[in-house]
Amino acid sequence: MATPVTPVLGVVADDLTGAADIAGVLAREGVVTVLRVGEPNDDAGAPDAEGIVVGLKIRTAPVASAIEQATASADWLQRAGVRRFVWKICSTFDSTAEGNIGPVADALLDLLGERMTLVCPAFPANGRTVVDGRLFVHGVPLDQSPMRDHPLTPMRDADLARLLGPQVRDPERIVRLPAAAVEAGAEAVTAVLADLRAGGARYVIADAANDRDCDVLGAASAELRLVTCASGLAAGIVRGLRDAGLLGPAGPLDAPAPVDGPALVIAGSCSTATREQVARFARLAPSVRLDPLATDPASDAIRAARTALANGPDVVMVHSTDTPLAVEEVRTRLGADVGARVERALAETARALVGDGVRRVVIAGGETTGAVLDALAVADLRIGPELAPGVPIVEAAGPPRLVIVPKSGNFGGPDLFAEAVAATGTGVRASAAP
Ligand code: ADP
Repeated sequence: MATPVTPVLGVVADDLTGAADIAGVLAREGVVTVLRVGEPNDDAGAPDAEGIVVGLKIRTAPVASAIEQATASADWLQRAGVRRFVWKICSTFDSTAEGNIGPVADALLDLLGERMTLVCPAFPANGRTVVDGRLFVHGVPLDQSPMRDHPLTPMRDADLARLLGPQVRDPERIVRLPAAAVEAGAEAVTAVLADLRAGGARYVIADAANDRDCDVLGAASAELRLVTCASGLAAGIVRGLRDAGLLGPAGPLDAPAPVDGPALVIAGSCSTATREQVARFARLAPSVRLDPLATDPASDAIRAARTALANGPDVVMVHSTDTPLAVEEVRTRLGADVGARVERALAETARALVGDGVRRVVIAGGETTGAVLDALAVADLRIGPELAPGVPIVEAAGPPRLVIVPKSGNFGGPDLFAEAVAATGTGVRASAAP
């Protein structure tokens, strides 16, 4: 039995994919990390981890509800012993004029009794940088990037102070961290932050043009109770907490123990990478296509998958993956909510098959992952090593204990599904199919 660890770093993330993303970074940095799916209930004990990431779905929720969920989560983290907090936002600052980045930052500052937060959505590894207080996406100002026309959060400005201003309680207390301080290093930033705090600053917007800048900012923020950032600063924050003696040294990242029981690959992503992965895996294992146009797509898929598992190897794939043209046709026929309908059907399929004894689940698609985890009522996911960049192997303690590989649409190489099935279990016979 491993030695119990105390939670030190708590993250409240505004969506599940972002939560998984930052949880993966923490784990990679050697922090024992658990991802809590959804708002923690009061009676659920804190997981045994140094880093706890709460994955909410509040990016576009009504402001009051976002505040309520975020503060309840942070309060729970605080009671679990967490001392440093991250309000994890999207690296494209996805928000509207009302929020929810600003209102939640204000509410968390109040809850934590802290006067100031650093604000930096940079994530250089994904092309998100902050230069002169403006947010860039692969070198293009945010308001000229595809985010300009996002259906839910159209971003029509790149200036972070102007974006944040209408969302916060004290817009006159927004300041910019001088770029020269970041240039000079973590100690200089720590000193400037102390001055800014003494001068009454509440929201400090920081530039970060590359990983080095992110590391400097992260490391310098160990004194702050709350950092408002995307995943880019996470590695620096961990190092800062280690330097400050708040976090222990990096431990080995153990893979979840393999689990007995059949595997299910469930794919709802229609991205280019997933289409290739589905095509490849269909040559190795029985494959069931969930038909969005069927009267009861889930029942059909469950029946076919059960037959496949009864007769064949201990793995089956259920997918709705299709070409953009076919997806467009289905949308035209069934309306825009077809996506949610397909997600529900895939999730129902996963729940039925786990009920039958499936214990390894590979899930392709961000929204699909959310729906499937919801249906499986999985609360805590312990983050294990990555199978591919951004694709961790995770474990749900259960019962039943499940080993899960969730992946966003475009992640992973063409043979990811076979690799995931092989990495999660024993006695894999994925190659037995025609
Ligand atoms: P990605 O990570 O690639 O964006 P998501 O799971 O987030 O994948 O999103 C894919 C969306 O497409 C989901 O809402 C899913 O239900 C929907 N979808 C999947 N297959 C089909 C299909 N054949 N026709 C229409 N919509 C589909």
